Amino acid sequence: MRNRKHPQLLPLLILSLCNTLVYAASTDFPSVTVPALPAHDGKSLFKGEPVPIVDWMSPDTINFTWGLTGVDNFENLMFSTYLFATLGSVVALLFVFRTFIYHINNQRLAITVASSYTTTASHFYSLPPARWFSLLRRHLILAPLHKLRHNNPLIVDLSAPPIKIHLGALPSRLNFIIIVLYLLSNILYCTLYLPWDGSVGPDGKLREPTKAALVAEFRGRTGVMAVVNMIPLFVCMARNNFVGHAVEVGFDIWNLFHRWIGRVVVLESVAHMLAWTVNKVDQAGWEGLAEALRVNHFYQVGLMAEIALVLIAILSASPLRHANYEFFLSMHQLLVVFFVAGIWWHLYIDILPQMIYCNIAIAIWVADRIFRILRILKNNIKWRRKGLSFSVAEVAPLKGGDAVRLSVELSTPFKYRPGTHAYLYVPRIGWWQSHPFSIAWLSTEGSAQMIEMTQMPNSLEARNSTLTATAVEAVSHSQSQASTSRNLNAPKDPYDPSKYRSGINSVQVSVATVSHDGTSMRQKTYSNLENCLQDSNPHRPLPASPPSFMVRNSPALPVKHRDLVATGTPKKTTMHFIISKHNGFTKQLYDAAQSAAATADPEKPKKGCVLKALALVEGPYGGHHSFDSFGTVVLVAGGVGITHCLGYVRHLLHGYNEGTVATQRVKLVWVIRKSEHIHWVSDWLEEILRMPLCRRVLEIDIYITRPSGTTNGNGWAGRGGLVKIYVGRPEFEAVLEKIVRRRIGAMAVTVCGGGAVSDSVRAATLKFVDQATIDFSEESFTW
Ligand SMILES: Cc1cc2nc3c(=O)[nH]c(=O)nc-3n(C[C@H](O)[C@H](O)[C@H](O)COP(=O)(O)OP(=O)(O)OC[C@H]3O[C@@H](n4cnc5c(N)ncnc54)[C@H](O)[C@@H]3O)c2cc1C
Repeated sequence: MRNRKHPQLLPLLILSLCNTLVYAASTDFPSVTVPALPAHDGKSLFKGEPVPIVDWMSPDTINFTWGLTGVDNFENLMFSTYLFATLGSVVALLFVFRTFIYHINNQRLAITVASSYTTTASHFYSLPPARWFSLLRRHLILAPLHKLRHNNPLIVDLSAPPIKIHLGALPSRLNFIIIVLYLLSNILYCTLYLPWDGSVGPDGKLREPTKAALVAEFRGRTGVMAVVNMIPLFVCMARNNFVGHAVEVGFDIWNLFHRWIGRVVVLESVAHMLAWTVNKVDQAGWEGLAEALRVNHFYQVGLMAEIALVLIAILSASPLRHANYEFFLSMHQLLVVFFVAGIWWHLYIDILPQMIYCNIAIAIWVADRIFRILRILKNNIKWRRKGLSFSVAEVAPLKGGDAVRLSVELSTPFKYRPGTHAYLYVPRIGWWQSHPFSIAWLSTEGSAQMIEMTQMPNSLEARNSTLTATAVEAVSHSQSQASTSRNLNAPKDPYDPSKYRSGINSVQVSVATVSHDGTSMRQKTYSNLENCLQDSNPHRPLPASPPSFMVRNSPALPVKHRDLVATGTPKKTTMHFIISKHNGFTKQLYDAAQSAAATADPEKPKKGCVLKALALVEGPYGGHHSFDSFGTVVLVAGGVGITHCLGYVRHLLHGYNEGTVATQRVKLVWVIRKSEHIHWVSDWLEEILRMPLCRRVLEIDIYITRPSGTTNGNGWAGRGGLVKIYVGRPEFEAVLEKIVRRRIGAMAVTVCGGGAVSDSVRAATLKFVDQATIDFSEESFTW
């Protein structure tokens, strides 16, 4: 069974730690409002510019434009804690829900495997869920906000000038509700208990003027809430987001929350500044305000942070963000430096108690950067006798066009989880850029180790009902070896197809079939086990439950991975990416790879046709979804989204052979524009199709939406009925309906592709959530 990490209590601990720190810092807080700098001596803390000497008890607006006069720190602290509690409760709820689902999945996996994939277990798990649960999923958890649109962005296509205005995608219904709750809680916490009738001073009398007192308290509240919100804002942007890891929520969702929290921080800090402006203008007029900004560092750095923040908000608007993402990202990061520096200084000058929140936010940012650097060092730096060496990537244009394959050898072995992605840095293209790409394939070369085949497939008698008696003899066919106990070069990579080729497919299998009456015997030799299985009855439809030979606890097991004892550590781990061409980094990479190929020496095609460039891999990230406990898994990929699905297909097939997953049926639906795009991953598809028992489990449907010339998918149609090629767009509802009817156990549907494909698959899945237990997940390639 796959050893998945149990969700941690870490996020809750971190939250309580934050609150404890805040409380600790607040013990010295005045419970009534006092000026921040009790002894103004006519000099400020910085550069000695004059500060007003105020009598804060006098009924003068000036009191409320300076320091903490009129600011109720006790209430601010209370509402900060409420905000943490609100966010913490959402995280805790998510955590409880995920843990619940995690245990259900784990239990299903354990029972299915332990019950040897019996029809009873599969049937039980194929039953529809409780009505309340399917309603919850249909109308809340999986539902788009409105009708069908979720991931498909709203794009306004102007004809003159020919511009596409990207208005962004809509959040899902659940995310929308979380966002609304968060907005409401901020509005409440910024406005509750404000002294609408005038605040009471330490002398027990109403402060005068009351409007100035109200505005001052509002200024304090909004300023505090803006700084408090920096903590969730920074948590959401971190690639190494431990909260996200614990609740198993992907970066695209955190990114959505990051944007909304950012908007709230902008609104609150603008409100903070406006409140100060109102009192200042009332007290000293616009000239006084200009003068204050001219001479006072406290205001200057506050204004700097404010300007940076407003610019961030403008640049983050979807049309600008998507028009040039790289420009947006660079400006965003630069402006964040100004914003954080400004806020920090603003708080530091007056030693304001909210400093702690700002420091925590900075600590989160620093910790994330440290983790990112450590990941890069771990993956890409090798210490050799000659000195340091870095990873070098090979980038080759793909035959299918529009994409390159980037392969990079990592410096340390890599623990791969399907569904993960990594960030790529290719300094030759842009040293400051890093782009996320799904890890399409991982190949590992092992050290040459002696391994023993500890169990031969010595009995296949239960394999097919047509065989009344069998005598199966596995003999080594290797020309170099003649005994049944063989030495093989076994890589440690559990997925390595060469293992299957050498470990299983290279085993010749002789099957002696005795007729029913026992009078005749037919002997046939197969070149590999897979052919033998297939030949036993190629037309037999897949059974509702696996055939009895798949009984996992039977002694008559087919050769399994655990039968091959590999002791060597892998020598070389190579990570492969398929990168499709867009307009920025990916286009430059594609062009560079094309020109390397074009200038290749025809005499030495191998040497020159591949672009070699320094490339750093940061990752892996994501990979929260596991389909191991689902009997039927449907993976839908649109275009380059296939990179997300391949790892799962390989993992599930491997698990099926190992008896470590509940999956017994895998359907891969791939929608591509041109048939040539199959070449992007054809080598890996070949490897998958060579995996043992693949025919029992896997079906691949490829839809070519704009075929040119041949429609047989460049010879991919057929493959013993495993690969079907269609022309046109798939009708996802019809596709799913067929699978739902023939499902085994619980079902999972996952989609990775353009917004339109994702939304169609989601809509189709929602139609069946009350007919079967169906899990739905999607991976988005944009945010
Ligand atoms: C988790 C994940 C996995 C992905 N896996 C793959 C993959 O396997 N193969 C593949 O071809 N593409 C993949 N992508 C998409 C890929 O990251 C973008 O296509 C690439 O960053 C575009 O770079 P560009 O400069 O050429 O883009 P541009 O032409 O400038 O922009 C194209 C689009 O890409 C998005 N984009 C640009 N830069 C980034 C960035 N740094 N981070 C996030 N989005 C960005 C923009 O929102 C824009 O809409 C993946 C994206 C994500 C989020």
